[in-house]
This record gives sequence, C-alpha cells and structure tokens, in this order.
Amino acid sequence: MGKQLEGQIALITGSSSGIGAAIAVAMGKAGATVVVNHHSDKSLKGAEEVLNTIKAAGGNGVIKQCDTSNEEQVKQMFAEILAQFGTLDIAVANAGIQQDASFLDMTLEQWNKVIATNLTGQFLCAREAAREFKRRGVQPERSRAAGKIICMSSVHEVIPWAGHVNYAASKGGVKLLMQSMAQELAPYKIRVNSIAPGAIKTRINEDAWDTPEDEKKLLELIPYGRVGIPEDVAKVAVWLASDESDYVTGTTLFVDGGMTLYPGFADNG
Ligand code: NAD
Repeated sequence: MGKQLEGQIALITGSSSGIGAAIAVAMGKAGATVVVNHHSDKSLKGAEEVLNTIKAAGGNGVIKQCDTSNEEQVKQMFAEILAQFGTLDIAVANAGIQQDASFLDMTLEQWNKVIATNLTGQFLCAREAAREFKRRGVQPERSRAAGKIICMSSVHEVIPWAGHVNYAASKGGVKLLMQSMAQELAPYKIRVNSIAPGAIKTRINEDAWDTPEDEKKLLELIPYGRVGIPEDVAKVAVWLASDESDYVTGTTLFVDGGMTLYPGFADNG
C-alpha cells in the first residue's frame, strides 16, 4: 500500500515550531510534498530544521516565508506554490498566537493582532486554497476530494477563557468559519474540518507546564492524565487530510485528553 498522502502537496502555516512543525513532519512522512510556512526571519532556522527532518525521513518540501494575516503575502505565497507545483491538495491553517491581558486592560492592538493572525489569517489561507481546489476539481489519482482544509482551533472554541478574550473569540470564530466554509464547499468536494487541541506542550503555553507544580495544576483539567504533545495532533491531521476520512466534513475533532468533558463535575460537581 502506498503512503496515505503520496503525490499530494500540503501547505502547513506556522510550521517552523510546535504543532505545525509536527504536522509538517508527519505529512512529509506520509508522502506529501510539504510547504513549510514560517512567519519572519526569526523563524527561518526552525523552518530549516523542520525541512531537514522531513528530508532525513525520505520526504520532500520547500520553505515559504509569509505573514498569513497579510493578504498580499498570502496571495504571493499561493502564487509561488502553484507556479512551483501546479496545484495544492491540503491546507492546514495552523498559525496562531496568544497575547493575553485581563478584559479590562486589553488594548485594541492586542485584540486586533490576535484576531488578524488566528481568524483572518485562516480565512485568507483557506480562501486561496479553496479557489485552487475548485479550479482543479477532483483528480482521483490524487485524492477522492478536490482538496482538504484543516483549521487549527482550540478547546477554547467552546470553553470560555477569562484573561484571553481575544484568543477565545478568535477560536470561536474559527468554529463557524470552518462550518460555514464546509457547508459552502462540500458540493465542490472540498472537505473542511477543524482540530481543537487541549493542552499540548509547545512554547505558546510553556508557562502552564514548565514546572512540576504548573504541570500538576494543568493535569487537574485533563481526565486522561497527561499533557499532550504535538505528535498527538499531527496524527489526527494526517488522518483528516487522507481519504480515510473522506466522509468527514464540517467537524471539529477535539484532541484534548478529555479537557472538554468538564472534569470539575467528575466528582458530583
Ligand atoms: P507555536 O507558537 O509553536 O506555533 C505557532 C506558529 O505560528 C509559530 O511557528 C509562529 O511563528 C506562527 N505564526 C504566528 N503568527 C504568524 C503569522 N502571522 N504568519 C505565519 N505564521 C505565524 O504554538 P503551537 O502551540 O504550535 O500553536 C499552533 C496552533 O495550535 C495555534 O493556532 C494555536 O492557537 C493552536 N493551539 C495550541 C494549543 C497548545 O496547547 N499548544 C492548544 C490549542 C490550540
């Protein structure tokens, strides 16, 4: 049997670190040619390490720098991908940030920055991907779908999060962005889904698990009894991008060790 994503081109935004990096490596191992998107000069080194890991495992890919919240840069990145590879099969809108502040102190700048990266950036990348998927249509030798879009959401698309209203609002927005895109794009055989991670060990949430005390406190929220790792999410992303999940669209897959099961109620509330 061939690899699940053999012959397909996959863009993963924000894949120079964390969850995106793990998805890039996993999709490369699954046979996809991977476009490793990174944000700025500072993240080039991370992107190079990711591409080296993919190549060392026998895979292939390229690096593209782009601020995914910038329409011109997103259009330019897609133009380059299409010029280089002719088309695209998988788009993972993963890039995201946190800029935390209490609601009373949150500045408009903090609000705008997070919404621009986490929500508008996903809109821009998904739109360019969907345009290409619709143009090309289904080619059965590539995949049963014309294209696959995976949005990186969070348990905070459903769990309110004081001190992080910009982040929670962005992920709540991703939920209905994803579902509305899925509804509109299904007739074109474009599948759109979200992954909602719980607590995954990356730099975005380092201060929640970097000491034993912090990790113990965090584990109170996780019935399954361990903090997640990026590979937990990457495996799910490969499945969602593959034909194994061909009848799955418009769904959020929670990868959270049960964080959304309201563990506070486990002992009679
Ligand atoms: P991370 O900080 O390692 O990854 C975020 C990536 O996005 C970085 O590589 C960063 O350079 C990139 N990025 C930021 N702004 C960008 C922009 N404008 N253009 C392009 N790239 C940009 O953290 P992570 O945990 O891997 O986060 C990845 C995604 O997973 C985010 O969307 C985050 O909200 C989501 N998430 C993470 C967790 C977790 O526990 N780690 C939980 C739920 C959701």
